Amino acid sequence: DSGGTSVPTIPRYMRVNLIKSSVESTIESLQAEDWEFVGKFRQDEVLFEVQVNVLTNASITLSLSLSLSLSLSPLAPVQASCIPAHALSPTPGSSVIDSCAAPGNKTSHLASLIRDDGRVIAFDRDLKRLGTMTRLLGTSGATCVELIHQDFLTVEPSSADAEDIQYILVDPSCSGSGMLHNQTNGASSDVSMDRILTLKRFQISILKHALRFPSVRRVVYSTCSVHRQENEEVAEEVMSQVADEFRFRKIFPAWEGSRGLEQFPHSEFFLRLSPAQDLTQGFFVACFDRIPTGVDQTS
Ligand code: SAM
Repeated sequence: DSGGTSVPTIPRYMRVNLIKSSVESTIESLQAEDWEFVGKFRQDEVLFEVQVNVLTNASITLSLSLSLSLSLSPLAPVQASCIPAHALSPTPGSSVIDSCAAPGNKTSHLASLIRDDGRVIAFDRDLKRLGTMTRLLGTSGATCVELIHQDFLTVEPSSADAEDIQYILVDPSCSGSGMLHNQTNGASSDVSMDRILTLKRFQISILKHALRFPSVRRVVYSTCSVHRQENEEVAEEVMSQVADEFRFRKIFPAWEGSRGLEQFPHSEFFLRLSPAQDLTQGFFVACFDRIPTGVDQTS
């Protein structure tokens, strides 16, 4: 329930497309256009690579991030929709599925993270949204993406094409109740509980399907919903069914901002972002890692 929360002004965010540029050269270009660099690079740990803030004379604040722009401070700005691809962190050369891909923001981020080296197979069942995605991807320079118009639930996990998939992103349709414009116009409260529970059933089935791929090492689940039914309840219910094979990976252990709702057993493994606390959209992320064979699951 986000009722009564005033929506703060959140910064604008940019992500550097590492296929086309680097953070250093992007900063140089911005400085050449009279943006003043007021931030600093930070390499506190591998995942926390850089946080840069630049100001214009007109006092517009722009937070420019490398592939990852999380700060260790809960009040520092983060771009929530960049978190799922980072949590998945596919390595260059790997095979990745974006199961619910259109319009492709996270697909292009995944392609950037693997430096366009490997495969990103992007599914969506909505042809119109795929059309938008084709245009957006065209500007990204990514050549490693295969766009497929197909319901991901009909993709056979043991098919020859799917058996080497190591990473899967599941960013399914959700109520969108965390989107700032929905919070401002009250739309989040307009979503009926029936609709939320229908979405929850779909989200559980698509997440479970992703976990059936034989070589998958990591699956990240994300929504822009504020409802526990679409977030913690989905993650916990699915984990209760796959706990012999998977465990939660704590997302960004150094993150001091909000975690999952405390009444859930694995709340500290999740990320739950809110405009008021984290200066970002409402967002939820959970990460499933396959337990390596031979590892004692109780340890
Ligand atoms: N990941 C996208 C991005 O970052 O730009 C946003 C995805 S949006 C939240 C959810 C998408 O899932 C929609 O485009 C919808 O058409 C698609 N979708 C819903 N059910 C699906 C299914 N069974 N198989 C494939 N795509 C599906």
